[in-house]
Parts: sequence; structure tokens; C-alpha cells
Amino acid sequence: MRQKIIFQFLAIAILLAVIITSLSLYNLRNTGIKSVIHNAESISQAVKNGLTTHMINNNMDQIDTYLNLVSNMNNVEKLWLVRGELVAKQFGNGTKNESPRDDMDRSVLLSGEMKYKIDESLVNTSIRITIPYIATAGVGMDCLQCHDVSYGDTLGAVSLVLDVSELKEIGLESIYLIAIAIVFGIILIVYLGRRILKPYIILFENLGKSISDAVSGKFKNISYTPGLTKDMVSLADEYNTLMSIFRDTSEDIEKKLKGFVGHRQSGYSSNPLEESKDIIANLSNLYQFKKEIELDSTKEEIYNRLSQVFTNQFKIKHFTFLEIDMLKQKMTEVLKVGDSFHCRAGIIDTPHLCRAARTKNDVTSIDYHSSCSHFKKENKFYHCINVDISKNAYLIINFVCDSKDELEKLKDNISFIKSYINESAPSIEVKLLMNALKESAFKDGLTGLYNRKFLEEHSKKLVPQALRENLNIGVLMLDMDHFKAVNDEYGHDIGDKVLKELSRILMETVRESDLVIRYGGEEFIVLLVGVKNEFDAMEVANKIGKKVRENEIDVYAGNKLRKTISIGLSMFPEDSKSLDTAMKNADIALYEAKNSGRDKVIRFNEEQVSSVDLF
Ligand code: GH3
Ligand code: MG
Ligand code: MG
Repeated sequence: MRQKIIFQFLAIAILLAVIITSLSLYNLRNTGIKSVIHNAESISQAVKNGLTTHMINNNMDQIDTYLNLVSNMNNVEKLWLVRGELVAKQFGNGTKNESPRDDMDRSVLLSGEMKYKIDESLVNTSIRITIPYIATAGVGMDCLQCHDVSYGDTLGAVSLVLDVSELKEIGLESIYLIAIAIVFGIILIVYLGRRILKPYIILFENLGKSISDAVSGKFKNISYTPGLTKDMVSLADEYNTLMSIFRDTSEDIEKKLKGFVGHRQSGYSSNPLEESKDIIANLSNLYQFKKEIELDSTKEEIYNRLSQVFTNQFKIKHFTFLEIDMLKQKMTEVLKVGDSFHCRAGIIDTPHLCRAARTKNDVTSIDYHSSCSHFKKENKFYHCINVDISKNAYLIINFVCDSKDELEKLKDNISFIKSYINESAPSIEVKLLMNALKESAFKDGLTGLYNRKFLEEHSKKLVPQALRENLNIGVLMLDMDHFKAVNDEYGHDIGDKVLKELSRILMETVRESDLVIRYGGEEFIVLLVGVKNEFDAMEVANKIGKKVRENEIDVYAGNKLRKTISIGLSMFPEDSKSLDTAMKNADIALYEAKNSGRDKVIRFNEEQVSSVDLF
């Protein structure tokens, strides 16, 4: 930079020198020509005066001597007179050759104006000049006294050739002097310039370096050399103060924010301010996210929100959320986006095989060997995260990437991603707990079946849905025959076992979409949702009766117990538009089954109502 400034400075100085020299030369030449013309005019005036004097004294024959005298003057190379037409007309052409000798003579006689021409050769320089004599009325002298002309007419001219070589020599000398002065001046300017500019140039160089360092995140102070003006010193000091503020702030941000919201693994931006901007943007998004999930009512909503962040903010294309219930040893897929979760199918029922769940560490694709032996998809890359939701519940997030670059990008963002997951974990735990609580409130502890409370809640949704979709519901009311005797004979434990066995048979016989409810004691309700007609419902009921009848229950010491069941069937909405009434009707039919010998299925009909009433 320093060289560049000096070079520019030198170029400007040389340019200035050339301009000054050219102007000086031009001026010198002009002055020289003017002085020669002036000289010529003086000579012409002297010649004119001589002519007039000779004319008045009537000794024109002496004029040549006079002219020779003038011609001998310094610098005068040639001198001749030119007689104008009007004078020639009055006095004749004269004895000497006074007619015009060249075009300049003729032109001056015609125009009455002075003309000159410079003739330059290597050795000599001369000027050829012709000055007209114009008829005037001067003080004590009037041309018209002798000449038969008008004022302003051209009487003649004097032509001269003057040697101006001396003038040229003076010019050349001036050039040398100016050139020497300029060279000396340039040397002086460069020397002084370097001395004066040096500290400024060093300051600017240091400033430039420091600014480029600052762009890449290194905020360094600049040093400066003595010789700067006060303004420059205070500018450098202020710059250094600014740098220390940047340095302290960026270090502070780095320490505090990174721990708070996470940071990029690769440190893709070496500029801490850039990175801070990123972190603050993430922090603000995270804050928004946290506020939103606090208002979410289900864990599905939270999962969806997380999924949107992954897709929209981090541009992740494939991932699956899996919940692991360690008590049930079950892994459940709860959300899937894109083409992900390529783990071996068996892992679902044996979640301890999941490496992320077992090690509680991130599991990621690595080169040359597989970090997780259960991921089965060639040319795909994975990154799995385990999140402890509670003591027995984990959330596994399986990310799948199409390329290594994509995986690297994901890993780069992983701490940001985890900050979102970590923010969600407590809310997910709350939702899981609430679900478990709801579940326990709606489930029967002995059999694991839904209870009466659940039926009441669920029927609020089920009935309108069935009516809307024209679904039939077969309502079975079931009651074990002579169950009290089991308790009496074998005790309550065996009684409980019989109830559990019955629950198993019911669950195994009906479809998954049907509902099995322990209504109370040894009474059960089965809702056959979407059953075609009463005959199909009858068939299911009979199947249950048969299975119960044929089922042998171990009681003690190899003794087997067989039980039967009575079932009342009512159809909704065929028998009643209200599910409650349909259940009552099924109960009436059950009563009929009991009364008519037990171990049977009885379809409800209206006549039974009156007989019950009667009873
Ligand atoms: P039937 O229905 O054929 O008329 O005769 P039953 O002997 O089954 O008659 P009842 O309905 O009166 O008997 C119900 C018995 O079920 C009474 C109660 O002790 C028993 N019970 C109710 N809940 C449970 C339970 O959770 N465990 C056990 N072991 N017994 C229960
Ligand atoms: Mg009963
Ligand atoms: Mg009973």
C-alpha cells in the first residue's frame, strides 16, 4: 500500500512538472515572439522615420546607405522596403527593386496588417516579418503632405528577417533550469511526503488489517507510530475502544448464549457476532416454541409442532418419533415424516435393542462400520437421539439423511435441534402422565378392560358417529352364571382368575374396533361397533358363549373349572335410538336368558319389557 501511495504521488508530481514545463515553454515562446515583433516594429519605425527624414530633406539617394546601416544592426539578417501601389503610382517604381518579393509582402500590402512567420531549423531560428506603413497624420508629420493617398491606405512595408537563435538558446536554458528545479522539487516532495505520510500510511495499513480481522471475528487493537496529528491519534484510540467493546461483547455472548441455546458443531461462521445473531434468532424462535407448547393440549400437538420445526427451520426431510415404554417393553411409532425408521422390525417389541435407548447417547452413521446394527438401509445415513421423558419413558428420534452432506448439516444443527427437544420433554412428560392418569381412571384394575366411566365418556362420541355413519351397534350384556358359587367354593382369588379368563376370551373373540367393558362385578358389556345386523351380532354372542363354556380354568391341584355365561343382545339404533336404552334392553334380554335356564343368548324384544315390568 505504501509503495502504491508513493507511486501515485510520484506520478502526480511528474504530471504536474510536465504541465508546468509546457506552460512555461509556451509562455516563453509567446514572450519571445512578442519581443521579436516588438523589436521588428522598432526597426520598422526607425526605417520609416529614416525614410521620411530622407524624403523631407530630399536626399533619397542616400537612403540605401541608411538602410545598410540599419541592416547591420544585431540580429537583422535581411531588410528590404516594399513600395505600395499608390506610392508607385505617384512616384514610380523607383530605381531599386522595391516591388513585393514574396506572398507575405503582397498580402501585407493588400491587408495593411503585419504578418510574420517563424522558420526553425536545428541550428538556427529566424523570423520573417513584414510591417505595413499606413498613411497617418502623426504629430508634426502628415503623410498626406507628400503622398497623394487617403488616411489608412497602405503606403508600403518594411520586410525583415531577424535571427532569433539567441532567444531559442535562452528558452533551452530555461528548460534545463526548470527541469532541474522540477527534479529537485520531486525528490524533495517524495522525501518530505514519505516522512510526513509514513505514520498515516502505517495507521491505514494497520486499520485495514484490523478491519479484515474483525470481519472474520477477531477484534484486534491497532498500533500507531508517532507523527500523527491529534485527530488521527484520537481516531485510532476510538477505534481501539470500539474493538475492545466488540471483543468483550462477543466473548460474553459466546460464553452465555452458547450454553443456553446450543451452537453449531462445525463453527461454520468464525465470526462470533454472526454466530450470536444466529443464536439470538434461535433463542427467539425457541422462546416462541416454548410458549406455544405450553398451550398445547395433547402430546400429538407437541410432536407435530416439533416436526414442523424440523421440517421448516432445519429442512430435515426424513424422521420418525418413537416412544419407548420400558415397563411394557414396547416401542411405538408416534410420528413419521418422509422415508425414515429403517430399523429391523423386531426392534419394536424389544426396545432395549435400540442402541440410542440403551446407551442414552446419540447414534450416528460413521464410515467403514455400522455404529448401529439394526439400521438396515443402504446408501442412507442416520442420526438417532434419545430423550429421557421420564424414568420409564424415552423418546427416540430417528433422522434419516439421503447424503453425507445432509448428515453433516444435521449434525451441525444438532445442538439447536436438541434445545427444541429438551424444551418439549417436560411438556411431553406432563402429557404422558395425564394420559396414564386418564387411562387408569377409565380402566379396570383387575382385567385391564375399560370401565363404566369410560363407556359413559366414550358413548358421547360414539353415538353421534354411529348415527352419522349409519353404523349398527350390537349391545351385548353378559353375566357369568352362578359366579357367586365360585367365590364361595374356591375363594375370591379363583373368582378373580375366572373374571380375567372371561376378559381374555372377550378380547380375543371381538374385533379391535369393538369395545369390551367391565360394567360392574361379573357383568360385562360388549359393543359390536359397525356390526352388519342382529344375526352377525348373535353369532358373535354365541361364539363367546361357546368359548366360555369350553374354557377350562385351573383351580387347584390339577382341578379344572368350567363356567357358562348368559348374554342379552339388543341392537342400536334398531331397538332404540338411545344407547342407554339399548343397554337396558340388553339387560332385560339377559334377565330373560337367566330366567330361561342360563348359558344362552337372548335377543331383546318388546314383550320382554312387559314381563319384566310384571315381575
Ligand atoms: P347368576 O348371575 O347366575 O344369577 O348368579 P351369580 O352367582 O353370578 O349372581 P350374582 O350376580 O348375584 O353374583 C355376583 C357375584 O360376583 C357377587 C360378588 O361377590 C361377585 N363379584 C363381583 N365382583 C367381583 C370381583 O371383582 N371378584 C370376585 N372374585 N368376585 C366378584
Ligand atoms: Mg350378576
Ligand atoms: Mg352372575
